[in-house]
Amino acid sequence: MCANEVRASKMERNETVRKVYLDHAATTPVRPEVVEIMSEYMLEVYGNPSSVHSFGREARKAVDKAREQVANLIGAGPEEIVFTGGGTEADNLAIKGIVEAQAKKGNHIITSAIEHHAVLHTCEYLEKHGCKVTYLPVDSDGLVDPGDVKKAITPQTVLVTIMTGNNEVGTIQPVKEIGAIARERGVLFHTDAVQATGQIPIDVREMNIDLLSGSGHKMYGPKGIGILYVRKGVKISPVIHGGAHERRRRAGTENVPGIVGLGKAAELSMAELPERQANLVHLRDRLIDGIVERISEVKLNGHRTRRLPNNCNVSIKYIEGESMLLNLDMVGIAASSGSACTSGSLEPSHVLLAMGVPHEIAHGSLRMTLGRQNTDEDVDYVMQVLPSIAKKLREMSPLYSRG
Ligand SMILES: *Cc1c(COP(=O)(O)O)cnc(C)c1O
Repeated sequence: MCANEVRASKMERNETVRKVYLDHAATTPVRPEVVEIMSEYMLEVYGNPSSVHSFGREARKAVDKAREQVANLIGAGPEEIVFTGGGTEADNLAIKGIVEAQAKKGNHIITSAIEHHAVLHTCEYLEKHGCKVTYLPVDSDGLVDPGDVKKAITPQTVLVTIMTGNNEVGTIQPVKEIGAIARERGVLFHTDAVQATGQIPIDVREMNIDLLSGSGHKMYGPKGIGILYVRKGVKISPVIHGGAHERRRRAGTENVPGIVGLGKAAELSMAELPERQANLVHLRDRLIDGIVERISEVKLNGHRTRRLPNNCNVSIKYIEGESMLLNLDMVGIAASSGSACTSGSLEPSHVLLAMGVPHEIAHGSLRMTLGRQNTDEDVDYVMQVLPSIAKKLREMSPLYSRG
């Protein structure tokens, strides 16, 4: 074969490998409509929103519009939205900002054992600086018991922070009940809704939420932009100091293209939400049922129904999650084991361990998270290749032959 032929046959092979992206909990593709409006705010309307001239005023107008679009998605008022540099920063601002603003009241935080590291590591940091943190347990489905929240509140409690939807196993928490308990006791309630905004309906008033984190790149917007909703009247100290931006809650020249892109993504998500949610639930359930039917000794991780519409997380016993991922990648399927943040480390997921999943089973977890572009054919393809990959890997596994 000459060089050209080799190249041609390689191209052919690439074309024939189907590509299926099933890692939407790690990040989502940016929608073309979002890219389009962002480029306008880089190439044409590039003013600084703080400038008084027309370039600046136009940028300010666009930021204000995006603030309304995001507020609408969660039932908030535009003045209650603070733009941040992503979901992680929003979580940091919520927790550190409330702890500092409420230092006179106390220094106790209540959270759960299955939070994203943006919350857990922030709490651990604050513990080193004198805060007390209660890490509530979860049941085998990954649910927090609102009764445990009630019992954990003390006169020193300044914040309850429990996520809306878990990024690994998809379990949706009883946010409204937890919020009601916190409010009744005069304690602020924050929820990391990064996986939930744009996926399931959220109404901050109806759900008794005082602070809520969201992120652009988990909802078909750009990376490096997020929001913190802060209920009107709630005082929060800034984490990043500088100018008077974002009503003195987050200094720094606004990321105008990111903000405008997130606004657009929020608007589009809101319009499509009911239909997309139904479609994702359909695909998710086909995926879960198909795997459980066709592969023996599989455990579904997370609650069967109180779960994010796009999340499928299974432990395929006797198989390492990592080898599963590599084999799936070879046939064009992008999945994950645990979360994007813990993959690469050999530690089993803190979420699965908190749910009481034994170490050896936690190691075999496989997360597939669907998105708006996935189809029934994608699910068919997974069902076509996954059982044989599982069979092959099990035959190689010393645990399996012994067991
Ligand atoms: C992705 C994610 C974050 C972090 O958001 P970034 O914008 O990537 O910083 C926080 N919490 C949850 C639940 C997430 O899934």
